[in-house]
Amino acid sequence: MKDKRYSFVIPAYNEEKNIPLIYDKIKAIMSDKSDNFELVFINDGSKDGTLFVLAELANADKKVKYINFSRNFGHQAALTAGLQYATGDAIITLDCDLQDPPEVVSEMIAKWNDGYDIVYARRRNRSDKFFKKQTAIMYYKLLDKFSDVKIPRNVGDFRLIDKKVSNVINSMPERARYLRGMVAWVGFKHTFVDFDRPERIHGETNYTLSKMLKLAMDGLFNFSNLPLRLGLILGVLSILTGLTFLGYMIGDVIVNKVVYQLYKVLTVVLFIFTGFSFVIMWILGEYIGRIYDEIKKRPLFIISGTANIDDSERK
Ligand code: UDP
Ligand code: MG
Repeated sequence: MKDKRYSFVIPAYNEEKNIPLIYDKIKAIMSDKSDNFELVFINDGSKDGTLFVLAELANADKKVKYINFSRNFGHQAALTAGLQYATGDAIITLDCDLQDPPEVVSEMIAKWNDGYDIVYARRRNRSDKFFKKQTAIMYYKLLDKFSDVKIPRNVGDFRLIDKKVSNVINSMPERARYLRGMVAWVGFKHTFVDFDRPERIHGETNYTLSKMLKLAMDGLFNFSNLPLRLGLILGVLSILTGLTFLGYMIGDVIVNKVVYQLYKVLTVVLFIFTGFSFVIMWILGEYIGRIYDEIKKRPLFIISGTANIDDSERK
């Protein structure tokens, strides 16, 4: 059997102190498994000595590779680059700050050897601050309810994916990258490994509120049509409200012989027409949604295996 190759993809933004730590940890856990592995660091425009530390490591150990971004492009972009350059049969993405403990990787690799194509590391607790924790809980509820694919809860970007999964991800050209959604979208056999997420050792979180919001929006807009449906819901609501009042007025005129002034009638009619314009907006939204789907150019289907099929015969 061919010696399987493992890739560790590690985005790093101002992580000079953490890089040597994670390097040692990964070497330690791989020592009894395989010598065939690589560490692909992505320096996402760090302002500290990250690049220097990486360059030294890469010089001393050929297993260490790095990609140096010209500026800060963000965590998801860094992961995307890492997946494109990783050469392993199994690719493990993890944070540089040791909040995704490399120790968990042993279990993930074991599951991969059992035949799972995606192994998510799931957080048992969230040691995050109150605000982050609460917003995360709310956000995942919302996403769960409205997204078209089930994106697993309490799962970040700490996961192992098989090469065939990363090949699909690499072939998805959409620009707004929400990798945890994309990984869920591709399907394949998946499982979970639970772990306790520790606090960051060195440095501070690089996920500012605005970066978090952007990520949250990417998830919501790329994986659900809720924002589009809003027009339909509002439209139907205001048409129904208008019709109810209109019915009431007509009844009032017939039964009680009340005479309504013109502006009152118009208000009700206006309600109904506002509803129509909401509906029209929704229809436009549906088209825009379809255009968006088309330009995302996601594959129509993903094949996980075949029998007696000759790929060269494919039209
Ligand atoms: N990161 C990155 N670019 C950024 C922000 C973060 O590459 O613009 C990296 C960072 O170095 C770390 C990972 O993404 O390896 C997660 O970031 P962080 O620990 O700040 O996020 P948190 O754990 O607080 O969600
Ligand atoms: Mg972190």
